[in-house]
Amino acid sequence: MKENDQKLITEHTLHRTDVKELLKLMKAPYKRGDRIAVKLHWGERGNHSFLPPFYAKEIVAWLLSIGVNPVVFDTTVLYSGGRRQGADSIATAARHGYTKEYLGCPVIIGDGLDGKDTIEIDAGFKHFKSVQVAALLDRVDGFFIFSHFTGHMAAGFGGAIKNISMGFASRAQKQRMHADVSPELNREKCTACGVCMECCPSGAITLSEGEFPSFNLDMCIGCAQCIAMCPQEALKVLWGTDKMKFQERLVETAAAVWRIIGEKSVLVNALVSLSAECDCLPGPRERFLDDLGFIGGYDPLSLDVASLQMIGEKRISSLHPGVPWQRQIQYANEIGFRKNSGSNEKNDFI
Ligand code: SF4
Ligand code: SF4
Repeated sequence: MKENDQKLITEHTLHRTDVKELLKLMKAPYKRGDRIAVKLHWGERGNHSFLPPFYAKEIVAWLLSIGVNPVVFDTTVLYSGGRRQGADSIATAARHGYTKEYLGCPVIIGDGLDGKDTIEIDAGFKHFKSVQVAALLDRVDGFFIFSHFTGHMAAGFGGAIKNISMGFASRAQKQRMHADVSPELNREKCTACGVCMECCPSGAITLSEGEFPSFNLDMCIGCAQCIAMCPQEALKVLWGTDKMKFQERLVETAAAVWRIIGEKSVLVNALVSLSAECDCLPGPRERFLDDLGFIGGYDPLSLDVASLQMIGEKRISSLHPGVPWQRQIQYANEIGFRKNSGSNEKNDFI
């Protein structure tokens, strides 16, 4: 860990074992009456290690107490399960206790129930010149980034950076991060509906009457829109990206989002229910460490570095040996992620 990292951790993070106590210390860069979106993960259907909703309830209560209007959200995902379609995801949220009645504010899907309510924002990095994210980014006044810190099979760990990246990304952007795509058709599932052809930005897909779509892979730009939008899940998702590139793409997406929301956001990492895999996977997960509590701040990179330090870098490496998670931190520093970070010192606070 660099000396500079250590200094920023000390300056920009607040440690508490209890989320309610932590919130009392936090300052909010919002104005009274602002609409504030709480980004969190309510767990895949069948997942056992997701954060129980009472933490989110505390956050919502805090936001209401300072005079803003909260809404809780997540985005649709690429793979099959209980969160691919918005309506299913809302049902999964409810099953896990994330309801308007319990939390005290609406629970919504940031990229729309059909996953199509997205916008393209500038990135200007080596992998992404732009990134596609939930349109909610444009529709609220500020954010509360609430991240369950976990291990992750491809990223090594997932914290605030991953929550801002995958968590805001459209389904197509999620795929762009995960793989160099060339779609592969499963004819048994395809109904020849033409949705893929309509959404393809490069004209790589053609569909003649009474036939299956055909894909010109020389024209394909690997945007993954067709895979994300196929209503029959007839297009195969390929996961063959090299792991360093995945880390970099993850960071670039987060950096592009943070550039827009950094001045009007606060963050909390939950270091509880610590398991080796993220909450996207169904089934029970063993805890690899006892609960450490909550850590809050105004800079996702500092918050993740502090979380890694609290858990122990060796322990993180042991969760998924060979996954170069360090690249996430190193690359975030290289591309100047911190320059995009919000600072509560620049804002008027409630
Ligand atoms: S969107 Fe899916 S189901 Fe429709 S034509 Fe394309 S591959 Fe087939
Ligand atoms: S990945 Fe993108 S460019 Fe390639 S066929 Fe699908 S929609 Fe078209």
